[in-house]
Amino acid sequence: MGDKITIIGGGLAGLVNAILLARNGISVTLFEKKTYPFHRVCGEYISNEVVPFLKKESLFPEHIKTSSIRQFEFTSIKGRSNELSLDLGGFGISRYALDHFLAIKAREAGVEVREKEAVNTVRFLDNSFEITSSSGTKRDADFVIGAYGKSGTLDKKLDRGFAKKRSPFIGVKYHIKTDFPQDKIALHNFEGGYCGISAIEDDKFNLCYLGSRESLRKYGSIEAMEEAVVRKNPYLKVIFENSDFLFDKPEVINEFSFRPKSLIENHILMCGDTAGLITPLCGNGMAMAIHSAKILSEIIMANRETGENRRLKVEREYQAQWNATFKHRLWVGRQTQRLFGSKLTSEIAVGLMKGSPWIARKIMKGTHGEPF
Ligand SMILES: Cc1cc2nc3c(=O)[nH]c(=O)nc-3n(C[C@H](O)[C@H](O)[C@H](O)COP(=O)(O)OP(=O)(O)OC[C@H]3O[C@@H](n4cnc5c(N)ncnc54)[C@H](O)[C@@H]3O)c2cc1C
Repeated sequence: MGDKITIIGGGLAGLVNAILLARNGISVTLFEKKTYPFHRVCGEYISNEVVPFLKKESLFPEHIKTSSIRQFEFTSIKGRSNELSLDLGGFGISRYALDHFLAIKAREAGVEVREKEAVNTVRFLDNSFEITSSSGTKRDADFVIGAYGKSGTLDKKLDRGFAKKRSPFIGVKYHIKTDFPQDKIALHNFEGGYCGISAIEDDKFNLCYLGSRESLRKYGSIEAMEEAVVRKNPYLKVIFENSDFLFDKPEVINEFSFRPKSLIENHILMCGDTAGLITPLCGNGMAMAIHSAKILSEIIMANRETGENRRLKVEREYQAQWNATFKHRLWVGRQTQRLFGSKLTSEIAVGLMKGSPWIARKIMKGTHGEPF
């Protein structure tokens, strides 16, 4: 049957949904407000749990020399450090390269990818959707997937609860050239946040931190805040002083929330970060975006017969599978974040890793899924 599906947002969740649905004969239009390729704030460490799926679907970017990450280092604000090997590990690749590669795959699968076009409104009427985009075009669709990321104006228009409170966080990302092991990801604490460093492709490294909006307001600029707060961790001081920074200016985002979100809003099926953002220290948001897209597109494809209860069935199955797969992970991520960003708790966390590495492993396991 001739389903029409509109996807809002062309990050990992949007692109993977689009590819899987289009390959199964569904007519898919994907709106992405930016133009590929582009940089976005992200630590760019992907858990290996996605590798079997990406390889099976020919979506692993084999032509790019990704890094392979097996070691984890954690440092306190004062500079105490501990290391663990990662059970599952991950790989590093820039979103610039990965999302661009997937957008090409989406076009090859027959998706209508509309770049530089944002969705402004979505209305649900008479069991179908009317979508209006920034070009002024109106379209209709049988299903709409919301994959527009951490937060956006659509959340306010949909009156989603989490969007009513301002977020206390900012995210900042650089690409750098530096002297750092290729197989290690380090998380360095500073007052009010933490900064990750790990290798991506082409001998480059990702340096990305979660900081506080309050610090930025207090010090007036990113540079001044880094000087006064971020570089207080001796490991970060060394990195900031001994690296080539490859961007003219950092990528910066604010207004994102780790609070629980509704999965289905006005019949729009939310996916990836739009359904729930796991705290970045878990290094699992990208894997969750990809996995949630697999779950959602498979449910839509398994329910292709028409019938009065079809939409209800899709929504119920998606809610049940999403809760079973991700709800606990998000909760563990929120609890673990409390161990970061303060002198006392970051010292406790390093002590915990040293004294009881099995607890640290258990927490890590709790934020990750099994390979799929
Ligand atoms: C500081 C920080 C560090 C992180 N580090 C890591 C990490 O190392 N590893 C990891 O796995 N995860 C990490 N994450 C999380 C990870 O970035 C996300 O979970 C992941 O990007 C989610 O993908 P997505 O497709 O849901 O959303 P996104 O990748 O954000 O994609 C959403 C897309 O929608 C587009 N869009 C938005 N609104 C509209 C609209 N109205 N119309 C059309 N298009 C629209 C946007 O331009 C964007 O391209 C980090 C997050 C933060 C904040």
